[in-house]
Amino acid sequence: MSIIKLERIGFTYNGGWVLKNVSFEVARGEFMGILGPNGSGKTTLLNVIDGILIPQEGEIWVNGTSCRKLKRGDLAKSIAVVPQESLMIFPFTVQEIVLMGRAPHLGTWRFEGETDFRIAHQAMEMTDTLSLMNRSMNALSAGERQRVLIARALAQQPQIMLLDEPTAFLDIRHQVEFFDLIKALNKSQALTVIGVTHDINLASLYCDRIILLRNGNVHSIGRPEEVIAEANIKEVYETEVTVDRNPLTGQPRVTLLSSYPSEGGNRFNSGAAPQL
Ligand code: ADP
Repeated sequence: MSIIKLERIGFTYNGGWVLKNVSFEVARGEFMGILGPNGSGKTTLLNVIDGILIPQEGEIWVNGTSCRKLKRGDLAKSIAVVPQESLMIFPFTVQEIVLMGRAPHLGTWRFEGETDFRIAHQAMEMTDTLSLMNRSMNALSAGERQRVLIARALAQQPQIMLLDEPTAFLDIRHQVEFFDLIKALNKSQALTVIGVTHDINLASLYCDRIILLRNGNVHSIGRPEEVIAEANIKEVYETEVTVDRNPLTGQPRVTLLSSYPSEGGNRFNSGAAPQL
């Protein structure tokens, strides 16, 4: 049985349809990437899966139960989100942030108990943030902050982790470290991951399957080698690219092509300088 199933989802913010007839399933332990140009509906789709936005059409099933029958708090026990770090300012210590992940599990009095501290501790161990626990979140580097946000999500003990462009502000080393950590958790904990990213090559390296969105529709879905094809990328992103194989991994690799003429030109430009 799939852990998440979307059936003919339609969503509008009271204007045009932003998601149209979106259907797909994600298997337990799968790493699913969501790609698509700006405005194609990626963030809206994540918010619909997370229960923040309620679709006007269609149905979402989590572990075989319709989300219409689940309370928001129940959903938060299954689904955690790792957001873009730069959007937040945190006047809290690392431990306080990680403990916030326990919120959906706290009892009536909302106080953390011994179990909550133990789980938060484990989450910091798994993300190599234990040594930072008493530091202020604001005093950390972007890469460290992002590891803390993974720890917070893990403290939630979710079955599904949603990533909303989590590496947008990280340099390439920290992007790779981030995805290595998520992939390790995905494998060792059978954690299901659904992640939006702008980086097609990172998605190609790490995702089991990819959904390519275009204008709120699923343009294509499948393994990276099925979806990251030259024709698909050109059509959806409306830009010139070549797609070949990464020589080490065999995964599809996208190379951008500038239309500005280099010396001698490129494959779709003779090299003549444009007339201004
Ligand atoms: P993406 O994440 O792929 O860039 P979004 O899901 O953010 O796409 O946006 C999809 C479409 O929905 C865009 O046309 C955007 O302008 C619109 N949109 C997003 N958020 C809102 C909102 N809060 N109110 C109205 N329209 C919105």
